[in-house]
Formats: sequence, structure tokens, C-alpha cells
Amino acid sequence: MWVPCDHKNQNYLHMKRFCLLTISILLVLAGMMAFTRHGIAQSSVPGPEEHFGFVPGTDRMLFDYEEMIAYFVKLDKVSPMVRLVEIGLSPMGKKMYIVFISSEKNIGNLEKLREINRELALNPTLSEAKRAEYIRDGRVFFMATLSMHSTEVAPSQAAPVIAYRLITGTDPTVTKYLNDVVYMIIPNQNPDGMDLVVENYKKYKDTKYEGASLPGVYHKYVGHDNNRDYVSLTQSDNRAVARVYNLDWFPQVVIEKHQMGSTGIRYYVPPSHDPIAENVDAELWTWTGIFGTNMLRDLTNEGLAGVGQKTIFDDYWPGSTETCLWKNVIGMLTEAASVKDATPVYIEPGELEASGKGLSEYEKSINFPLPWPGGWWRLNDIIRLEIASTFSIIKTASLLKDDILKFRNDICKREVEKGRSQPPYYYVIPHEQADQSEFISLIELMKEHGINTFQLKKDYTLNGINLREGDIVYPLAQPFRAFVKEVMEKQEFPVRHYTPDGILIRPYDITSWSLPLHRGLVSHEIKVRDADFEALLKPLSGDLFPLSVAYKLPAIFPATSNGSFKAAFIAMQNGLKVGRLSQEVKISGKLYGKGSFVIQGKDEALLKSIVKESLTEPGFADQPGRLALTDVTMPRIALVETYFSDIDAGWTRYLFDTYKLPYKVLHPDEFEKTDFIKDFDIVIIPNSGKTLLLNGKPGTETSYYMSNYHPDYQKGMEKKGLEKLLLFINQGGKVISWGQSADLFTGKQEITTGENKEEFSFPFTNAAEQAQKKGLFIPGSWVRMTLKQDHPLTWGMPSETGIFYRGQPLFMTSIPRFDMDRRVIGVFPEKEILISGYVEKEEEIAEKAALIWIKKGKGQLILYAFNPQFRASTQATYKLLFNALFLQQAE
Ligand SMILES: [Zn+2]
Repeated sequence: MWVPCDHKNQNYLHMKRFCLLTISILLVLAGMMAFTRHGIAQSSVPGPEEHFGFVPGTDRMLFDYEEMIAYFVKLDKVSPMVRLVEIGLSPMGKKMYIVFISSEKNIGNLEKLREINRELALNPTLSEAKRAEYIRDGRVFFMATLSMHSTEVAPSQAAPVIAYRLITGTDPTVTKYLNDVVYMIIPNQNPDGMDLVVENYKKYKDTKYEGASLPGVYHKYVGHDNNRDYVSLTQSDNRAVARVYNLDWFPQVVIEKHQMGSTGIRYYVPPSHDPIAENVDAELWTWTGIFGTNMLRDLTNEGLAGVGQKTIFDDYWPGSTETCLWKNVIGMLTEAASVKDATPVYIEPGELEASGKGLSEYEKSINFPLPWPGGWWRLNDIIRLEIASTFSIIKTASLLKDDILKFRNDICKREVEKGRSQPPYYYVIPHEQADQSEFISLIELMKEHGINTFQLKKDYTLNGINLREGDIVYPLAQPFRAFVKEVMEKQEFPVRHYTPDGILIRPYDITSWSLPLHRGLVSHEIKVRDADFEALLKPLSGDLFPLSVAYKLPAIFPATSNGSFKAAFIAMQNGLKVGRLSQEVKISGKLYGKGSFVIQGKDEALLKSIVKESLTEPGFADQPGRLALTDVTMPRIALVETYFSDIDAGWTRYLFDTYKLPYKVLHPDEFEKTDFIKDFDIVIIPNSGKTLLLNGKPGTETSYYMSNYHPDYQKGMEKKGLEKLLLFINQGGKVISWGQSADLFTGKQEITTGENKEEFSFPFTNAAEQAQKKGLFIPGSWVRMTLKQDHPLTWGMPSETGIFYRGQPLFMTSIPRFDMDRRVIGVFPEKEILISGYVEKEEEIAEKAALIWIKKGKGQLILYAFNPQFRASTQATYKLLFNALFLQQAE
């Protein structure tokens, strides 16, 4: 307060030094204040209670993101043991920070320490002397990223308490810890969600609905899926956090802090359960074990009951911030049992249960030595666990500082050596791809992951494969080798059982994430080493897409590029005329297939910005009058999103926003007042439950259960709303739907027009349940689908594609009656269906349909058995969705 510094200035590291100097001078001049070992007046550090007006952890009290950041700004101003550094913006534009806490000396020396981190992490050829010097002078950087799942409030609510204790504590052991360790807090990894949830909690507090769930997702787009995004890095808050360990600070230890259900173990600590990632170095798993077991020991020592390890969660799948494990970071997770936001819960002993894997009974076990007996469970109980686990990690990091720093360089050397001595040696991504936009965005993504990228200087034949100048090469001999291999190869699930010949240990989440496959790109895995080839590699520099050519209108954008759709959407909204080719054509030696977009107009500056946005180079379509063109216009889209944390709808909004495709969100309970025929051309219903859409209740038609939402939000479209939707189709509207929402359209349907009541069934059924009864199991895998050729839904697509599939629905069509028709657009092949991931009994889906087109009356219904835009990570199937937007009328 008494230091006049502007900490809003982003480039303020220098400013901070000035501030520190100012603090010192003022303190010296004051000359009469009591000083602590840290050289600052204890009394000048505001306690959390003083700042927030309550002790964090008090029942039914929560602070929001802005209040929390204001506290850290104060600490940053008054304490030389704290530094606040801005790292980016959340999707809704909130500033995100790291709070560095360490000894005054370390905080004053952060830049030098960061350089040591970088050298240890990335330099495999350090001299022994230099290495020893860095290990001696370096510090363990321990990053904790808090409460990314916004209803899991406690880690963020604990952060100010932990910070205050660290900087004002007088315990000499803590002083020692902070000499060895730089603690980096991301005080909340999802600031937008934190404010949404805290506001919602306050809205219902002191009413009978206290603790009611937030309607909608707790993030601008993706809600709970925000920790499924660490391979794709689509969300700005995630990119900001990943950059910290990929490119900027190279912490050696990272933990993400979560909460789980209320009736299981109280606290999960590492190590995880099987299966574990094959590509992650063996020694890393031993480190997660050391940190986790020390946590278990320290918490038990403090009398904190209910801590378990090696249960529930596995470390096979990359997707959360634990993806840093593939970048040589000791990456971990903790999960606490939840209360209702901040409202305590009482748990009867008989309600406690084991769940997931690794613990078969809720009883004393080797990985759960002190069961919690039940009773009241409060926010402050979780905060105690957060404080104790954080101090435990700092303690372990301090005790083993030199070993951890040595390990970080050892693993760097080891990964580079593996890349030189074990196949595969390189992944090559040819620069000539059907979808240029996905090629460019993949290369950009890999740079964001801190991956060393090279380009081939001239044509070369490697292992019989003709490679071209400009092709992109990822040598495996690099520090983040494990990550390169993981995301470039196809996935093979490590099949493990509980006992020999026993039950399969099932995966926690999905089993496929191969970037080239999911993007529909050609890539080569090269299993021979070739020195001549390596001599032809140069580091990729500059922009892959320099926009050096002056593009001219009319411009033709190929149907094969996802970016061409973006170009068309932008062009249409800016008044340019857009048509699609109904016959393929060759222009300047290049073949443009059916569905390619021709954009006409005069504004070539606009064209340039369209090209830049679309990452797709257009051709010059001289004499467009000679082309077989069908004009297209922007459809008016209703996007259906339920109130029930509708993550798939959120991902769809994200996709449409990034593709500049306008839409209007419609909740199911708004159907009754909506005039679909007047206001919309297309209704899109992403993956949701049938009963959620119809009645606002989770469960199945025969067994609903009550959810935790305020009654205002426990509403669906009801029978009347569904009938309106069916009438919309009947009169020429188009409905596009995928995943379990397709069940809305199975079985008997009814519409009434005037006096006429019409009963009908669409000509398809969902065969998923029978297939599952026969043993079909697909936890989320990349599987083969054959496409109907020469159909407007498959324009720009190859004859066969991969799709991301989770086993339901599964379509079988039948001969239609009266004013209906159907076409199977995508079908599973007879055999060799699995491409990447895991499947049991794949024969159960053989030759069944995965994408169908249905006509009813004057309208159309397009149903996908898969999410075509799954977590914005299945670019190979985006075109199957975008093409549907432009399908002409059925008659
Ligand atoms: Zn969580």
C-alpha cells in the first residue's frame, strides 16, 4: 500500500526490482520497525482473514477469483519472498498468474534460476563441471495448479493460507525448504469457472437450494473437459499453463489439485494405479511414488485419516496437466473428497465405499492404511489436506533437491540417447497434404509443446519413402522424446490384468490421441537411422505460411481443407459471393474436387485476411462462369445445449466460434416458444442424454434420477418440443445430431398437423445395447469407417476415414415407408476396424452404420454415431459435419 508501483504493467519484472529497492529504502529510512528473518515487517503482510473478511475454509464462505488475486497482489507488494507474474488470459479474458514463493534470495535470482532449469531440462551435453554447478546452485521449482474444475473449490481457497504461512512462518525447517525450493502457484487454472461457481453458490446460499449445481459449463466452453485438453491445447487458459513447463520455466515437479466424490477415500495421492504410459521413463514413476508416499506418511503423521494411493486414477492417458510427465516433469495429481461447494456434508459410515480400481473394500489396506470413519466433512477438512500435502511436497523437494535436479538432466540425456539408439528415429510429416490447414496447425501445436522441429532441405528417399524438400521432421533424439512418440504413433493400449488371467484393468479415459491420425494427415514413422538424412535437416524457422503471394479473386479453396470452410463462412458474412463446385475441375494443374469453394468479389484485402485465417492457399479461379457452381448461403443455426454441464455442446460452440460460424444457443425448455420454421434452417443437437433433452432428468427412460440443479433448470423439451422439432423436419428443416442424442429419434414418433395425427418411425434402430451385451467394449478409440463416395456429405473426404468412437450408438437402417428415405453414408468395415486405441469384440460393429442420412417429408435428419468434433481433437471428421450444413433440400 505504501509502495507506489503499478503492477498492472505486464512487463514489470524490472519494475518489481524498482519496487523492491523502494521497499528496502523505505524500510531502512523507517528504521524502527521490527524485522523478521526475511527482512520484512511481519505486520506488513496482511493475513487472509484480514483481507477476505473471514478465515478461508470457514463453512459456507468462498472468495472469488478477483478477491484472491487482489490478495496475491498485496503479498507481491509487501513481501520480497513473493513475485506475481502474468502468464496469459482465460477464454473470458481474465488475467492469469503464477505466484512465485521462495526465499528472498531465490526470488531475487529467478531469472538465473530459470536459466539453470532450462539447461538441466534441455541440454544433454552439459559438461560435468557445469552440471555439478547447476545442481549445486539450482533450486527445485514446484508448480501447483489449482482447482481447474471449478466446483472443486478447496485448493484455490487454501492457496492464500499456504502462501501466508510460507512467507510469515518462523519454523527454521520451512526457511530451509524455501532456500531449496521455489514454489509456483497457479492460484486458479480456470478463473472464468471459479467466478461462475462462486457466484452461483452465493446466489442460492441461505435458500433451500444451497449447493445447487451451476447450470451450464464452468468455463467459457469446455467445463470439466478442461483437463482433457493438454495434448490439443485448444483453450487459452490451458495454453498459458502448459507454456510454463513446455517453454518458459521448466519446473521439475508439477501437481494438479482436484476433488472427487464425497463417499470414497478422503484424499488420493500418487502414485497412480495401472496402466501407466509405456513411453514415460521408468525413473519418473519412482519419483511420483516417492512424493506420493511421503505425502501419505506426512498426512497420516498429522492424524489426517482417509488418504489412499494407487487407486482410481491411472497414468496411461495424456490429457491433463500430467501430460508434463511426457516432458520429463515429475507430474502428479491429488484429489480430495468433496463437500457441497462450501457447505459441509455428513457422511454415514455405511455410505463410505471403495470405487474405481485399486481398492476393493473401504477397509484398512496397504494403499489405504488409515480409513476415515465417517461423520461431518467440511471445506476446512479439505483445506487442511491441501496445506499438509503442499508442505509435504515442498519438504520432499527440499530434502532431495540435488537428486531431483540431477534426475532432470539425467532424463534429458537418457531420452536423447534413446532417440539415437532405439527405433523409431524420426516422424516425418509431408508438407503436401490434402488438408493444408491441419498440417500447419499441427506444426504450430508441436512448437507450442516445446518440440524441436526440423525441415528437410532437399528431396531424399529414406527407407524407400520419397520425402520432399520442405517436409517436416521430428527426430526422436530430443529431450521431450516421450511426448513426440506418444502423439505421433498410433496407440496400443497396455493390456494389464489384476491377476494372471484375471479381469482387465480398464482405462480411466480414452485410448487414442494420435495427432496425425486424428487430423487425417499422412505421417511416416521411420525405424532406420540415416546420417545422410540427418545432414539434410535444418531447424524450422520462420512462418510455415508466409502469405507471400498476392492472392486474387475469384479464389478457389479446396474441399479437402477444413480451413476452406472457415474461408467460406467468413466470406459469406462479409458479403462475398460463395459457391461450391458440383463438378471437379483442374486449375493451373491442380485438381479441385466437388465441394470446393469459389469465392467471388472485389475486396482482395479481405481475401488476404481470409487466407491468413483459413491457413489454406487458394487458387485463382479465372472465369468462374465456366465452373459448375451451386451458390451457398449461411444457414441459420440453432445449437441445442442443455443446462446439465453440456460439455459436448460447449466443444461445439468452441469449434463454431473458431471457424467463425454463427449460431444461436437454444435450451431444450425453450423449444415450446421457438418458431423453428421461421427462425432457423438447421437444428444441431450435440451428444447428450435422451432423458436430459426430453425431460431435464438424467438417467434412462425407465429410471430417472433427481439431479442437483435448481428446479428452474430441471426442464427439457418435453413431448411437445420434440413434436415441434419433428414438424420442423417434415416441413423442410434440417436436424443434425450425434452420439446418444440420436436416441431421440428412435422408436415411435408422432406429429399432428391440423386434424391429422401421423405416427411413424424413422428407418433406423440403435443396436449398441445388443452389441455391448455381446461384449463390445470401446473406451474411446480411433476406428475405421468407409464412406459413401460422391455424396455431398463426404465431399473433400477420402474413401475411408478414422472416427473417434465410444461404442454407442450403433445404427442399423431399414426399408422406409411413405415419405421417408435413408442412405448409409459411413459404415464400419468387415474387419480390421481398430486403428488406434483399444476395442474388445470389434466384430460386433462390423458392417453396421456410423453415419446415416434420413429424409422425412421435405426435411432431413443427419445422425452420427460418433462426435465429429470430439474435444476439438478429431479434425479428420470436421468436414462430415460442415458438409451437412450445406446439404440442399431433400426435394
Ligand atoms: Zn477435478
